[in-house]
Formats: sequence, structure tokens, C-alpha cells
Amino acid sequence: MPAYDAGTSGARSVLIRYLRQVQELGEDEVYLSEDVRNLLAQRLGSRSASPVASGPQNQERVVAAPGGGQQNQGRVVAAPGGGRSDASRLAASIPEPEVIEARLAVSGAAGTGDMFAATTDIDDCTSLEDVERLALGCEKCELASGRTKVVFGTGNPNATLMFIGEAPGRDEDLSGVPFVGRAGQLLDKILAAADIARDSVYIGNIIKCRPPNNRTPLLSEIDACMPYLAKQLNCIRPSIICTLGLPATQTLLGLKGSMASMRGKLYRAGEIAVVPTYHPAAALRDPRYKKPIWEDFLLVKREYDKAGKS
Ligand code: URA
Repeated sequence: MPAYDAGTSGARSVLIRYLRQVQELGEDEVYLSEDVRNLLAQRLGSRSASPVASGPQNQERVVAAPGGGQQNQGRVVAAPGGGRSDASRLAASIPEPEVIEARLAVSGAAGTGDMFAATTDIDDCTSLEDVERLALGCEKCELASGRTKVVFGTGNPNATLMFIGEAPGRDEDLSGVPFVGRAGQLLDKILAAADIARDSVYIGNIIKCRPPNNRTPLLSEIDACMPYLAKQLNCIRPSIICTLGLPATQTLLGLKGSMASMRGKLYRAGEIAVVPTYHPAAALRDPRYKKPIWEDFLLVKREYDKAGKS
């Protein structure tokens, strides 16, 4: 039974939507099952579906891209069919990453033996809701006076996978929800391409209030806000954390390196896998960041699937 029925317009729209996602992510190669390849041949005709290079057994490259037509230039790499999603199959085939022993540099981690332990006035909180209630009234730093809303974090309180960004921007400050602006919309597309439901993960930031003009958070602001993140981690206990951008990566891992030097690797902090990647906003400014971000998301996806949450 083919994964897609070539006779239905539904299958075509699934294919076109998928290829658009790939195009938006800046990818020029995508693995397609034989069924999808057949669909592609029907839609675009032999003109654009003809192989232009042969690959490993059962795989071939065909020229095609969303929307059809001769101007299409995307390179499509077809792969044999199977039960797993394309993203899972891709994720399972990535090279083994460099694995680095790490320790989360969140408050309470040092010397406690429990990297999720928090040692602050929010220690008494026993649930994520309790911590959020405290955070909503927080005045621990100057950012409180300029905010519209505290952006505590949203998503699955039992998430296996947690994303940690930098700080709320304008749209997040107005809505109280993380990653809803342009960077958030790109994050949504990457999650969709990786076949990860946004509501299955938890999304937060290292600081909960918008800095003026979206400037980089000050160390004093990060320090003031850290107990909230520590307690969020304590409540959610994710097994995979993806840090988005330099401040989140440096803060969480306690490292000083550049994004280029820290990404593409897997940091093992006890039972937790940390995968750093560029902030989606970087890809909005410069599309060349899309490729490394996608590679890092395949690593996230691989760990996510391994954790049994495909
Ligand atoms: N950028 C971030 O780092 N976090 C958000 O919530 C939105 C944009």
C-alpha cells in the first residue's frame, strides 16, 4: 500500500506543502520515498522528474521544487519507502555527532548533585503553574518596568524536548507567548519539517521579559531570571534541550565559545542531551544559516526519536 495515493489531490497538496517547507528552509536536497517520487513525476512531468545523478542503491537525484514549472531548481534526493517519516529517516542517517560531556550551568547545579535543583525563593514552588504565578509578578530586574507581559514559556509540561531561546521580542511581549513573531514562525516551519508537533514540546527563554529594542540580555538580567529557568527545568525534566542562539547556549552550558564552534555537537549533561543551534532569527537575516539549523534539528529529531517520541 503506497504511503500516498497518486490519484488524489490531497496527496499532491501534501507533497507540495512538504516541498515548500523544504524550500523555505533553504534546503536544496530532500529525501523522497518512491511513492512520492512517482507523484512528483506525475505532477511535474518527465521534463523535471528525470534523474540527473545517481546515488546509492534505491536512491536517485531528480530536479524538482515546489510549484512545478521549468524555473524549478531544487535538488530532490529520493529514498526507498518505509514506515518512518522522511524526517525520522533522515535523522537516523546523519553521521554520529561529536559528543561532549557537559554540565548545565543553571542555578543550583553546582555541587548539589542534582542539576535541576533550584536554590532560590522559588524553591517552594511545586508545579510549573506556581512558578509561572511568581514570574508574572517578578520585579527582580529593570526589565519589569518596560514589559507589557511576562513571557514565561508555553507547551507540554511533561515535554521530552525543550527549546530555550534568548528573550521575548515585540510580538512575544504583547502576547505573553514565546516565539510567535517572525522567528517563531520560522521555528514552527522547522518543527513541521522535522515532524515534531509544537504542542508536544516546551518552549521558553533564558529571560522572561523583553529587553529594550531587543538588545542582548545583560548578565545581571540573566542571573536574576535564572531561578525561573532552573525551576522550569526542575518541573519539566526534559531529556533533550535545544538551545537557540548564543546567549541561550552559553548560559545553559556555561561556555564562552562562538555558535559556530559549539553547534553541530551533542552535549551530554547526565541524562540530558543538549543540542545547540543558531537562533532562527539568524536565518531570517541570512539564509545561509538555514542549512546548519536544519542539520542541528535532524540531530534533535534523532535524539527525540531515540527517546521514543516520534
Ligand atoms: N526570540 C527569542 O529568543 N525568544 C522569543 O520568544 C522570541 C524571539
